[in-house]
Amino acid sequence: MLRTLSKIVQTQKATFASAAAAAPAPQTNPDILYTGLFINNEWVKSSDGKTFNSENPATGQVIAEVQQAGKTDVDIAVKAARDAFKIGSPWRKMDPSDRGRLINKLADLIERDRAYLASLETLDNGKPYLAAYYGDVAGVVKNLRYYAGWADKNHGKTLPIDGKYFAYTRHEPVGVCGQIIPWNFPLLMAAWKLGPALATGCTLVLKPAEQTPLTALYVAQLIKEAGFPAGVVNVLPGFGDTGAALVDHPDIDKIAFTGSTDVGKLIQRGCAGSVKRLTLELGGKSPNIVFGDVDLEYAVEQSHMALFYNMGQCCCAGSRTFVEDKIYDKFVEMSAERAKRRVVGNPFDPKTEQGPQIDSEQHTKILGLIESGKQQGARLVAGGGRAGDAGYYVQPTVFTDVKDHMDIAKTEIFGPVQQIIKFSQMDEVVERANNSDYGLAAAIFTKDLDKANYLIQALRAGTVWVNDYNVFGAQVPFGGYKQSGIGRENGPYGIHNYTEVKAVVVKLTDKMS
Ligand code: ADP
Repeated sequence: MLRTLSKIVQTQKATFASAAAAAPAPQTNPDILYTGLFINNEWVKSSDGKTFNSENPATGQVIAEVQQAGKTDVDIAVKAARDAFKIGSPWRKMDPSDRGRLINKLADLIERDRAYLASLETLDNGKPYLAAYYGDVAGVVKNLRYYAGWADKNHGKTLPIDGKYFAYTRHEPVGVCGQIIPWNFPLLMAAWKLGPALATGCTLVLKPAEQTPLTALYVAQLIKEAGFPAGVVNVLPGFGDTGAALVDHPDIDKIAFTGSTDVGKLIQRGCAGSVKRLTLELGGKSPNIVFGDVDLEYAVEQSHMALFYNMGQCCCAGSRTFVEDKIYDKFVEMSAERAKRRVVGNPFDPKTEQGPQIDSEQHTKILGLIESGKQQGARLVAGGGRAGDAGYYVQPTVFTDVKDHMDIAKTEIFGPVQQIIKFSQMDEVVERANNSDYGLAAAIFTKDLDKANYLIQALRAGTVWVNDYNVFGAQVPFGGYKQSGIGRENGPYGIHNYTEVKAVVVKLTDKMS
């Protein structure tokens, strides 16, 4: 559904207006109903009485006081998840097709409350309402429905072992999972983790990001309403120390994390203690390679969206735009014009393309990197500073004459800052594109099939898009090479990462041949 939205946003105004007209009006002041810890299908307060505030990034104002889970709460929630996972429990006894039905029911409830959830996401995260409605929440529903279908299809094999034996494999749930969620797509990233975990029959403790806990908490209530047995899903709002307590917990079998590469490395170390299964979806500095034979207007718009979508807060953002020398100057000029036209403002306004960054920390970091770009000799052709007086807004910013060694060409900015870099030869651009610690995504824009096919093989990235960007599907795996992560989410690969394979060998009696 992200695809649907990016297509809508990048097609012309008429389509955008009709998309806005087709969506229900946002609730600009949605009720905040759930701010507690969700354990064993009950709402409770934190054991030590700690709370934290969630802000509206468009204004910087506090919108909710949320319970903050500490180590004791993690122990209680993990015990609830472990009990729910015990052999003979309602969840373990449930027919797989009924598990699928429950996941579909959850998708139904999210669909029922789609406009409310999109409004709550906009309030807590700052993303434009239409993006939350057509991108995030719709994507959540599709993802859950896809995995609902997997619940009774994760089967093993019979094996032709030598001797009088019957050998087969069982695909069993990996167990109790700790799932740690980022703030850029709060609900969607939670769904990417909930879907395969529930389809395979795992139980879990999910920790939303401290900046954006509200939609995951509302979905916890929907999980109860759908009829999931107590303890299958537990949701603990909190900070990094809550996440670390999950990682260190001896009774958790698997951690699934989406977030920064630095924290991912800490988590990988933490998981070594009890050899936990681990999937990591981390940062990126993705190359978007534009050859001289393209339809320029299309490629400029796609490259703009590749970077600016979600305020640049995408791990797969096309943040190194490599452009062939023969179209470079024109491409830069058109990209600067497009960035200047980008509508920045109140995320509830349907005309808004860009809302605020998530918080003051990210805001300061992005402005600092913009300064470093200026100081290191990149040329600013659009934006270059904060936007507005309130909230955490940044002007849509475009740098040209960017060199590979500059900080803005190497560091993940996670903001609305486009780097346009010149190249002239194919082998040169392959080497430069791959010269990064990251390897999450890449894109190629060309009409030349031979060039595209060569680059598809040569680029070291978990996803390669050709003549498009940010195209996602529940069926298609997503994850990184190198320091962009371990494992894949979505599609059948998502199921593998929540499955233990058990080999069973049964001796046959002599009467049977
Ligand atoms: P960002 O830098 O983009 O804010 P982080 O990687 O810090 O992203 O955060 C992503 C998620 O990881 C959040 O839910 C956050 O609370 C959690 N987190 C942060 N530090 C740790 C840690 N040391 N161990 C486990 N989880 C953590």
